[in-house]
Amino acid sequence: MPGYHAKKRLGQNFLKSQAVIRQIVDLVDPAHQARVVEIGPGRGALTLPLAEPGTPITAVEFDRDLIGYLTKLLAGRPNVTLLHRDFLETTPDLFGEEEFFLLGNLPYNITSPVLDWVVRYRERIAGAAFMVQKEVAARITATPPGKDWSPLSIFTQLHFEVEYCFTVKPDSFSPPPKVSSAVIKLLPRRGVVVRHAEQFDRLVRQAFERRRKLLVNNLVPDPVDDPNKLREALEAAGLPVNIRAEQITSEQFMSLTDRLVEAGLL
Ligand code: SAM
Repeated sequence: MPGYHAKKRLGQNFLKSQAVIRQIVDLVDPAHQARVVEIGPGRGALTLPLAEPGTPITAVEFDRDLIGYLTKLLAGRPNVTLLHRDFLETTPDLFGEEEFFLLGNLPYNITSPVLDWVVRYRERIAGAAFMVQKEVAARITATPPGKDWSPLSIFTQLHFEVEYCFTVKPDSFSPPPKVSSAVIKLLPRRGVVVRHAEQFDRLVRQAFERRRKLLVNNLVPDPVDDPNKLREALEAAGLPVNIRAEQITSEQFMSLTDRLVEAGLL
């Protein structure tokens, strides 16, 4: 695309490696999806091969300067719908009735909000594949105990099986980003029930507030004002009082949430 300058603020690192493009398209497997939704088609590097089998594709691009180019590029592809929008402002009803597979070589600054979107609208999602910064991929796919285990791992893995698929080097993009990237895949776990979802959310975020501190020191006095009762709840949930958040599994966080709610502490 001559004369076009990639915009840093929109995280524009366009894929140029045909091998990586092929790997991602194979992961998505468009021939077997009812619909594919792409976040940020950019210059169409993924959009064109994804459209090949004729599956309906909706591509959501925020950058007005790319819309004209994409419209021409996709002119012979009636199965592709191009939307000029901020993906974060969309809701799934824009993408029709059926389940869809969501993918994107994500602008790094919207990774967390995109994952929040995915969790919120999980019932509509058949699966997802994202290119993200390698260290973020490590956090999303981490297991406890460990330094990468975080609210991002917990909230994503509660509703999705996550897989770290492969690492992508900076020279696979134009312009090259400063750090390595990785592709992750998410498949929904259906029917997961979190009994006290709002309190669970609050507890987990607060527990990781200062990751090196003991859990009790992150939870007292807010949201739990009584340290003795917190210790009792920890014991009842089978957790030692000197535990740190990065050692606690999602199930243990849920059990602790239940105890704290039952004791009227959360
Ligand atoms: N898919 C292309 C590729 O792999 O070469 C482009 C990927 S580039 C990393 C990210 C793309 O997302 C850019 O085209 C950028 O303009 C677009 N983008 C950034 N923020 C967006 C948003 N909030 N909603 C939709 N698209 C966005």
